[in-house]
Amino acid sequence: MNAALEIDLGALRRNVLRLGALAAPARYAAVVKADAYGHGLVAVARALAPDVAAFCVYRADEAAALRAAGIETPILILGPVEARELASVAQSGAALTLWSDGAFARDVARAARERGAPLEVHAKIDTGVTRLGLEPDGAAAAIASYAARPEFALRGIYTHLAAAEELESAYTNLQLDRFERALGPLQKLVAERGIVRHAAASAAAMLFPRSRFELVRAGIATYGIWPSEATRAAVRDALVLAPALTWKTRLVVVRDVEAGRSIGYGCTFVTARPSRIAVVPIGYAEGLPRALSNAGCALVRGRRVPFVGRVCMNMSFLDVTDAAGAAPGDTVTLIGRDGAESIDANELAGAAGTIGYELVARLPAEVPRTYVADSSAIASRTSIVPS
Ligand SMILES: *Cc1c(COP(=O)(O)O)cnc(C)c1O
Repeated sequence: MNAALEIDLGALRRNVLRLGALAAPARYAAVVKADAYGHGLVAVARALAPDVAAFCVYRADEAAALRAAGIETPILILGPVEARELASVAQSGAALTLWSDGAFARDVARAARERGAPLEVHAKIDTGVTRLGLEPDGAAAAIASYAARPEFALRGIYTHLAAAEELESAYTNLQLDRFERALGPLQKLVAERGIVRHAAASAAAMLFPRSRFELVRAGIATYGIWPSEATRAAVRDALVLAPALTWKTRLVVVRDVEAGRSIGYGCTFVTARPSRIAVVPIGYAEGLPRALSNAGCALVRGRRVPFVGRVCMNMSFLDVTDAAGAAPGDTVTLIGRDGAESIDANELAGAAGTIGYELVARLPAEVPRTYVADSSAIASRTSIVPS
């Protein structure tokens, strides 16, 4: 096998329980867009369904895939939906996001009339991302009008924060002030109908208690990846996250070469010493960022070994000179632990000039994924520290 992803479902559940406990009494919606951040939509959702209040997806077809897999947990679709998809959304019972009272709301109303039952909706207010959402000024009137329509079952009102993971508390608080002000005229409606208010993604759920309201929408933390280094530093030991994903490949060729040898396309790396250069059967088509050309490390035989030369489409190179005994067939750990060393998604992503979010979201669906129930089951059973 050239590359393999292993996902620890026990780690996912522990992350949900731990962040869920921190955010309580707010309930937990696991964000599973982008194929559950590369971890595999259906397998992740099956594992988490008992522990979460809802799943958030981006597209209608993701909601349909969850229902087709027999998952009955409430679903919120965060992104735009086309009119032709509305019948299937109605069938699935997934909630839609409404952010304007224009053509889309009319399409949703028509789909509800055709179905003979209201469609569930959450209204979104834009408080400062300037992406999707009603302007705060007109939001209360628009939302009151949604609430009055028999075609809509208004279940939630939400906003999204721009800079919580950068610890931008001034901007985050400004956004939350705007959200609360927009909700002001709707207080009675919210209370009477039990409408769920939500604003926090992972970082805010950890760091801004006032953002938690009735529900948090946690994506990246569900997978055990910190939203940012700053978040990790600020949260310190208030929360332990367990990375769920391990990404491995193997050495296919190990070559002894003299000093002065050019490695790979563009001759961007020339050995400075007699070296052992390994070829790894994974490149940018398999999700390894090309920006790891001459940047970042992998683990071989418990040692950090650097990427050298350019990452190719399906191959790349590691300088394994310092990993004594490295041989074809050896395991290469791109994300995960090998002996005393470990590399997490943010470290590998950082070496490529990006963030853990992008790295995992771009892992191709074709890379085989195996799921383990709980890689630390034995450890946690014998541990005296509650895990
Ligand atoms: C992706 C997304 C989230 C989850 O963000 P994380 O930082 O991964 O927790 C929450 N809400 C919305 C609207 C999103 O698009």
